[in-house]
Amino acid sequence: MSAKVLGKEISTWIEEYPQLKEMIDLKEVLWINSNYSDFEEGMKKVSISQEDVLDAQERLNRFAPYIAKVFPETKEDKGIIESKTVKINNMKNKLEEICGKELLGNLLLKCDSHLKVSGSIKARGGIYEVLKHAEDLALENNIITLEDNYEKLDSDEIRKFFSKYSVVVGSTGNLGLSIGIMSAKLGFKVTVHMSADARQWKKDLLRSRGVEVIEYESDYSKAVDEGRKQSELDENSYFVDDENSKNLFLGYSVAASRLDKQLKEMNINIDDNNPLFVYLPCGVGGGPGGVAFGLKLLYKDNVHFFFAEPTHSPCMTIGSMTGQHDKISVQDFGIDNITAADGLAVGRASGFVGKTLENLMSGCYTITDENLYRLLAMMADNENIFLEPSALAGLVGIVKILTSKDGKKYLKDNNLEDKLQNINHIAWATGGSMVPKEIMDDYYNKGIKFIKNKHIEI
Ligand SMILES: *Cc1c(COP(=O)(O)O)cnc(C)c1O
Repeated sequence: MSAKVLGKEISTWIEEYPQLKEMIDLKEVLWINSNYSDFEEGMKKVSISQEDVLDAQERLNRFAPYIAKVFPETKEDKGIIESKTVKINNMKNKLEEICGKELLGNLLLKCDSHLKVSGSIKARGGIYEVLKHAEDLALENNIITLEDNYEKLDSDEIRKFFSKYSVVVGSTGNLGLSIGIMSAKLGFKVTVHMSADARQWKKDLLRSRGVEVIEYESDYSKAVDEGRKQSELDENSYFVDDENSKNLFLGYSVAASRLDKQLKEMNINIDDNNPLFVYLPCGVGGGPGGVAFGLKLLYKDNVHFFFAEPTHSPCMTIGSMTGQHDKISVQDFGIDNITAADGLAVGRASGFVGKTLENLMSGCYTITDENLYRLLAMMADNENIFLEPSALAGLVGIVKILTSKDGKKYLKDNNLEDKLQNINHIAWATGGSMVPKEIMDDYYNKGIKFIKNKHIEI
């Protein structure tokens, strides 16, 4: 650890941001964004608009017939890849038992863990970005028109055309899965640069689909750098830039209008009297950022979102708290970025996302790996829903907000104290359905073991 970070002693950083000390000690924290402002004010710095989100939504609609054709599991949803939103009352009771307090309001789970095709939230942004690139190429080369039925992309001739082009990405695993599966299906040559924490089964699965996988001993940032370098050498190569991509962000943002439709079907309307709190597991920030941004456009001041990170990888918390975004990393403070939550194992947050959400994000919190495993086992036992460790991070948001000193202060400052029973809390479950059974059994057994050793404290 270098003694100075951006020219300042770590002790000076801690004086300025006392929670940094707890984070360096790997304690769980809840950080409330003191720059959180109302929607109008928060949007002033933002270059992305509702039109951009609608454009992305229409693009996904154009591709739906193709998706339904090449991924038959999406046929029943007419080629729209979307997950369920479910009430998890048993889990809510369990959380109440753990914290010993009544948790007012409604607790829901957004099951992106069960998104078709790639089994994680990356099936939103990752697949969208590949489709956008494919459409751009196909339009430029007069292979399709916007009015065509895109089913025609499922042809040997068009796959041959795409095979002249390559797609490259750096990933901790799940982004690689979604980019790899989608690109290979269209016919692209595709290379995924995987960080050390990427699971073996994800590499194996990609290789079985004809994807080239390059493995690194080091972490996510290195895998991204190497991917970027390789891609720059070839003019027919397209690099999916997880740290800066507006297209990924837009792909995620489409979730908002679809969630709104689902909530309405459940008789849940988000308005002044019925606010929404959303808790999203965060790695580099694109997934949670895009989803949250879409929700802000839709619900404005009636939605409050928090990002959840492992205590060993709190990059968005540190970047946002200090306002330094991608100029600062967790390693700068001696935090090791080693976590079982592989989807969240990122040491440096996206500057693009951090800046876009600077005044729109309500805050961030951190959670230990042991607690992720405990929650994994509890979710399995109480709801029969199996998630990967990363995907549990959103689940304790409701407890942190309703029961901690800083959480209660946030509710008070936002005049929500008398609406607690009307708040809808959504934990965004970001991955898990593609985890092989033996590995899921291991996760579950670990969770049970941790519960036996010491009960969870939130
Ligand atoms: C990628 C991922 C996230 C977070 O998305 P980012 O865009 O990296 O912030 C959360 N959970 C899972 C399971 C993921 O794969």
